[in-house]
Amino acid sequence: MKFQVQAEILRNRPIAAGYYQIDLRAPQIAAAARPGQFVHVRIPLLEHRVLRRPFSIYDADPATGRLSVIYKVVGEGTDVLSRRQEDTADLLGPLGNGFTPPDDPGVQPVIVAGGYGCAATYLLASPRFSSRRPLCLFGARSREDLLLVEEFQALGCEVRTATDDGSAGRKGFVTELLRELLEAPAACSLKVFACGPNPMLKAVSTLVLARGLDAEISLDHAMCCGVGACFACVVKRKAETPDGWEYVRTCTDGPVFPASSTVWD
Ligand SMILES: Cc1cc2nc3c(=O)[nH]c(=O)nc-3n(C[C@H](O)[C@H](O)[C@H](O)COP(=O)(O)OP(=O)(O)OC[C@H]3O[C@@H](n4cnc5c(N)ncnc54)[C@H](O)[C@@H]3O)c2cc1C
Repeated sequence: MKFQVQAEILRNRPIAAGYYQIDLRAPQIAAAARPGQFVHVRIPLLEHRVLRRPFSIYDADPATGRLSVIYKVVGEGTDVLSRRQEDTADLLGPLGNGFTPPDDPGVQPVIVAGGYGCAATYLLASPRFSSRRPLCLFGARSREDLLLVEEFQALGCEVRTATDDGSAGRKGFVTELLRELLEAPAACSLKVFACGPNPMLKAVSTLVLARGLDAEISLDHAMCCGVGACFACVVKRKAETPDGWEYVRTCTDGPVFPASSTVWD
């Protein structure tokens, strides 16, 4: 079930350089939201700019109706959004398929996230959706771009970090932390969930598939309608067709796909 609502903006504040958290009152979406789903936000700009912007649902509290999103200011839409206070925002959601929360006691969930990708995986670590606390591997360009480490720790998760410049955690890519984990004998019990830039997702996929495992990866692909109507967000998925692949829509068939089904061009 999805809803279109005028959500009251409860709070909209910077949480790190260039990153904001917006809390909205959207009880229906907060109650229905599952890990890895997103909301499509209409941001009033110039009249001809009608396209919504997709943002992962970071947190959702059915008890209070609060829905939170973490966003990075990258362009006109997010810049306008960052300056909105004491107002409403037009939300459509929850959209997309989302992650499959792990409930098998023999499986150790591992979250691999880059930048704001950790926001999309927060509900996955919530006791509301899973009895297992994931091990979190978070990567970012530098210390300032590492988000939500304390929030995941507060849920009881172990968080290991890597930064490109070495200003926090291991110097290098987060996939190096994953590589080490996958080399351990117990790796066969790992279930990997990943969200971040597509090059990171491609590297994650290569690593897990080489180890004989799979992963759920959330693709970051620009989209228009968000509800499967316009086909602007199609990606290739492996299929038993003459070409060996078919097109699927990121917004409704995804954004979460098995790494084993993804075709990287
Ligand atoms: C399923 C999904 C979940 C997302 N979740 C989040 C989130 O939780 N937090 C967050 O900050 N962003 C998230 N994004 C990306 C977010 O939608 C874009 O950053 C936003 O639409 C940019 O709008 P804008 O008007 O500010 O930028 P625009 O003016 O539209 O673009 C500015 C720049 O950002 C680039 N850009 C636009 N969209 C994307 C995108 N999808 N991926 C990478 N680069 C893009 C453009 O190419 C351009 O260089 C998500 C995207 C998807 C598809």
